[in-house]
Amino acid sequence: MQATLTFLGSGTSMAVPTLGCTCAVCTDAHRPGSRNRRTRPSILLAYNNRHVLIDTGQDFHHQAVRENLQRLDAVLYTHGHADHVLGMDDLRPLTFGHRGELPLYADDATAEVIERVFEYTFRKVDRYPTSARVVLHRLPTAPDTFIDLFGGRFLRVPVTHGRDTIAGYRFGSAAYLTDMSDIPEESLPLLENLDILILDALRRAPHPSHSHLDKSIELVNKIKPKRAYFTHISHDLDHDATNASLPDDIRLAHDGLQLTFEIAPEQN
Ligand SMILES: [Zn+2]
Ligand SMILES: [Zn+2]
Ligand SMILES: [Zn+2]
Repeated sequence: MQATLTFLGSGTSMAVPTLGCTCAVCTDAHRPGSRNRRTRPSILLAYNNRHVLIDTGQDFHHQAVRENLQRLDAVLYTHGHADHVLGMDDLRPLTFGHRGELPLYADDATAEVIERVFEYTFRKVDRYPTSARVVLHRLPTAPDTFIDLFGGRFLRVPVTHGRDTIAGYRFGSAAYLTDMSDIPEESLPLLENLDILILDALRRAPHPSHSHLDKSIELVNKIKPKRAYFTHISHDLDHDATNASLPDDIRLAHDGLQLTFEIAPEQN
């Protein structure tokens, strides 16, 4: 079964242009259509007439308008940082038309952040009447955790994000590992035979909680997917100049970029 993956956002937590910055990349990012314009990181998967979202950052509303997103069937969360969860409230209108409650999937640590920040949504009594109609499912962090959604299997891939271990996801022949400074050895077998690997590559210089360009290239060479895309990108990397310096099978993602891949074997 074929799936389409859309990068809703390819930027780091401060986005590009970064407020108060006048560097060449941020300046170019003000130009309409600039590939240096990067909103907060998130991807949308479309397959089997369903839409599955990974993360809801502060730019979710704007991203959903841009991509004309009319329906949503599930949301998976990677971790509880602001640039991945703060757009949850903007799911509201999409949940009103949903049959039942819109399922959200998150591990305990992430679910606790979502429940704390959006406390009014999950209140048992005196619930705010137009709050999001969502149900938060807790995903275990045990090895080999997966969840089946609409014919696609989402395998949790633990990745190191500074001092935390958070969730990446593999779905069919693609994997999305945003916000990672390293990939633990135990996760490598989950990343074999990939057509598409999406990795965090924040900037050129090393960073305590995000992989940098050289390190991500090294990881691609180790994991050997057919193609790799870098995301969670800061204003340190100019889109065209960086792409020109990368091997052909590695590209910087950009907002709105679409890829197709196989999410599940055809059923007979
Ligand atoms: Zn992030
Ligand atoms: Zn800048
Ligand atoms: Zn993070």
